[in-house]
Amino acid sequence: MGLFTKDIKSMEDLFLHGLQDVYYAENQIVKSLPSMIDKATNRQLSAALRAHLRETEQQVSRLDQVFAKLGQDPKGTDCPAIDGLIKEADGVAGEVDDEKVLDAAIIGSTQAIEHYEISRYGTLIAWAKELGHGNVAPLLNANLKEEKAADRKLNGLAEGKVNPKASGRRVGTTRTKRTASTRRKTAKTGTRATKKAGARKRSSAI
Ligand code: ZN
Ligand code: FE
Ligand code: FE
Ligand code: FE
Repeated sequence: MGLFTKDIKSMEDLFLHGLQDVYYAENQIVKSLPSMIDKATNRQLSAALRAHLRETEQQVSRLDQVFAKLGQDPKGTDCPAIDGLIKEADGVAGEVDDEKVLDAAIIGSTQAIEHYEISRYGTLIAWAKELGHGNVAPLLNANLKEEKAADRKLNGLAEGKVNPKASGRRVGTTRTKRTASTRRKTAKTGTRATKKAGARKRSSAI
């Protein structure tokens, strides 16, 4: 986007800008997912990320088709939002020590990316229809559906396995068994004497 001229003069320009934005974003996601896959230790999580990487490559080619249908060359434009989300994901991952906690961090960061994509595709579909480009809506909607499915899958993994493991809760223990009152009790008494002493030391330091 020009610094001294306003490049977006119409809704049509805005739509094209949005497509270029998401095209750039998808390409950055293709580049960044491999390192998340490498860092993940939960096998279902790395498999889910690998599957989404393959989907993301398909999404880029669907966007190529969208540009073609509009008579435009496929081209990206900087998306500071996705750059920021990826930078944040790498930054947090680099600071996590425990590998189980790292899995939870990776899911959180990946879901932030999915939510960005979901919001972008929702807007682009509405704009496409408004501008009479309904012919590209099914392609955009196919991408949207994959983002939503990826988000749901990550939710299931997080709540079913990854978060309980990261928090030290035994997998298979239901939330109802560990009620708020037992949690308070555990926090107050600690499970071992050493933990108790440590907790007291920490609370006195506050
Ligand atoms: Zn711009
Ligand atoms: Fe995507
Ligand atoms: Fe963007
Ligand atoms: Fe995605």
